[in-house]
Amino acid sequence: MQIVKLIAETQSIIGKYKANGKRVGFIPTMGALHKGHLSLVAQSKKENDITVVSIFVNPTQFNNHNDLKTYPRLIDRDLELLSEYEPDLIFIPEVEEVYPEPDTRTFDFGYIENIMEGKSRPGHFNGVAQVVSKLFSYINPDNAYFGQKDFQQVAVIKQMTKDLDVNINIVACPIIREVDGLAMSSRNMLLSEAERKNATKISETLVKACNLVPDFNVSQLKDWVINEINNNTYLEVEYFEIVDDTTLKSIEKWEDSKNRVACITVQVGKVRLIDNISL
Ligand code: AMP
Repeated sequence: MQIVKLIAETQSIIGKYKANGKRVGFIPTMGALHKGHLSLVAQSKKENDITVVSIFVNPTQFNNHNDLKTYPRLIDRDLELLSEYEPDLIFIPEVEEVYPEPDTRTFDFGYIENIMEGKSRPGHFNGVAQVVSKLFSYINPDNAYFGQKDFQQVAVIKQMTKDLDVNINIVACPIIREVDGLAMSSRNMLLSEAERKNATKISETLVKACNLVPDFNVSQLKDWVINEINNNTYLEVEYFEIVDDTTLKSIEKWEDSKNRVACITVQVGKVRLIDNISL
């Protein structure tokens, strides 16, 4: 397990692997790792000769300064967790090297970046595309692994790889949950004990919503979910949308799509949590 900070050194190590015909799998992360991240590492190890993990809290994807400031940074613990999975290379670049000057590139993903997370966090997906395109250019992986927890992010990254015409296979991996159903997230550790307990209501409600599809129309189900969660004093729904899993178009009738995903963002005190479920 090599730990490298410099871009040029990373490029040189990976260049040698690729020259020897090795398949490279890549997992970009912002650290504060949990079993969700580690599941991506495990999948990459199964499908590639070499697995590379990056840990980089990307400032350009935060539209809220306080969120960036409070984002957990636990590098020693991350390295310890990763050592059990033994990725070949851990890339931990410095902000100053990734962004020696401000990145002025603007990406246009059209509709898919202007709804849900894109609407709530203006500039977020542009920042994600900036950093992931840079990381892809340094590492040039064969496969890159992303979690379905960030469902819309997967769609944006797939579009970006198409637009940039890079030959990288984007692999979407299932959401890993805590025993009580809460989707694992680096932000969960920022919850108070009471908030953590009540946050379970989010996934619980999504699971119930799945079972209510035969009884409710789309609009009734949306209202039911929002009320159910907002009735808990610790939770406030920011948005709840039911969309087609490929086009991300909001559906109005169940017949509009066979592959429906219910996407939710909930404010839990100062912490913003996202989750989704296939309906
Ligand atoms: P982050 O460090 O939050 O940027 O996440 C890095 C990668 O891990 C992203 O592709 C996330 O979608 C993925 N990820 C985060 N949480 C989970 C989870 N609970 N299950 C599966 N993947 C996850």
